[in-house]
Amino acid sequence: MSSVLSDAHLTEGMRSVFVELLVHGPLSRAEAARRLDLSPSAVTKLTKPLLQNGYLLHQPSGDRSMMGRPSQPLAVDPARAALLGVKLTEDELFAVRTDLRAEIQHELRRPLLSHAVDDVVTRIGEAVRDLTGSGQPPAALGISLAGTASGGDPVVPTSPFLGWRDVPLGDLVAAATGLPVVVENDVRALTAAQQWFGAGVGRHSFALVTVGAGLGCGLVIGGRLVSAAGRGTGLVGHLSIHDNGPLCELGHRGCARAYASSAAVRRAVASTLDRSDLTFEACLALAAEGQPAARRIFEDAGHALGQVVATVANITGVQLVILSGEAVAMYDVCAEAFDAALTAHTHWTSTPVDVVVKPFTFSEWARGAAVIALQHRILGR
Ligand SMILES: [Zn+2]
Repeated sequence: MSSVLSDAHLTEGMRSVFVELLVHGPLSRAEAARRLDLSPSAVTKLTKPLLQNGYLLHQPSGDRSMMGRPSQPLAVDPARAALLGVKLTEDELFAVRTDLRAEIQHELRRPLLSHAVDDVVTRIGEAVRDLTGSGQPPAALGISLAGTASGGDPVVPTSPFLGWRDVPLGDLVAAATGLPVVVENDVRALTAAQQWFGAGVGRHSFALVTVGAGLGCGLVIGGRLVSAAGRGTGLVGHLSIHDNGPLCELGHRGCARAYASSAAVRRAVASTLDRSDLTFEACLALAAEGQPAARRIFEDAGHALGQVVATVANITGVQLVILSGEAVAMYDVCAEAFDAALTAHTHWTSTPVDVVVKPFTFSEWARGAAVIALQHRILGR
């Protein structure tokens, strides 16, 4: 089957115009040409095969009287191909099927019965079957998980939550499903979704900071997702915040994770109030109601998070930081402390950073995995 997602004959120019239309479309030929610094006739030539094989289509033009000369904008046909994305957590699997524009069509959630690699591969295979059904076979499958996985490599070097080392997950799942498989760190995958289909669209550089079981940071710098083979990137979780702060799991005193991870916040509220039964959500509800001790602990978390975001912006020069993650709802009760710390720690020569808070869902993690698969198939990396 001829496919823009797997076609070795796809030229660099065709790739560029396809990505431009996918991310920014619909666009007129003239607008696409301007954005890509090409002539309109070059765009016509590059898009012709993509129109012929159905990846692009002509959109009915809008109000013709507005711009004078009528032109039919070009757009990617989102229904032309499907992608699958799977996010693995310590105890669950979240999977989505998306169209070419990463709109979720179906999603499912399953428990992981064990961390044994064979079991997990079997569960992923079942999810793939259930999401594919008798429909169009997906073009690729992305898998995201916490750990040092990086897109170009089918091996997961380390995944602490799953207790894995050097697991050839990509090859095993490819053999089980017959699909091209890309395995990626979950925060980077979430960042990729924001880059092409979220708040990062149109931004040359931005950061995504996640708060949940840990703290993470994904970066797009100069239009490229920052990655490092076999290594983590954006490892902000153990940045030092305060010399006399609480201890993290690794024994650091006063690191960001010791203040702001959901487990650390829960522990601090539960022990202060002597209520070991409290969940993170219950702690958050107490803080939202104004319980003074809970409120103070969340404010400390917000302060740590603000300092982390300022540090990321100071180092990279990004002007947009997207906040997400399982515990991002904490922002609602600690925004003031967050903003104060962000302002206090942003370098005096920098302009203020825009912060966008993205409400969290697990299917968004899985969607990120689908986008990583899409990016790898299109960009061939
Ligand atoms: Zn630490």
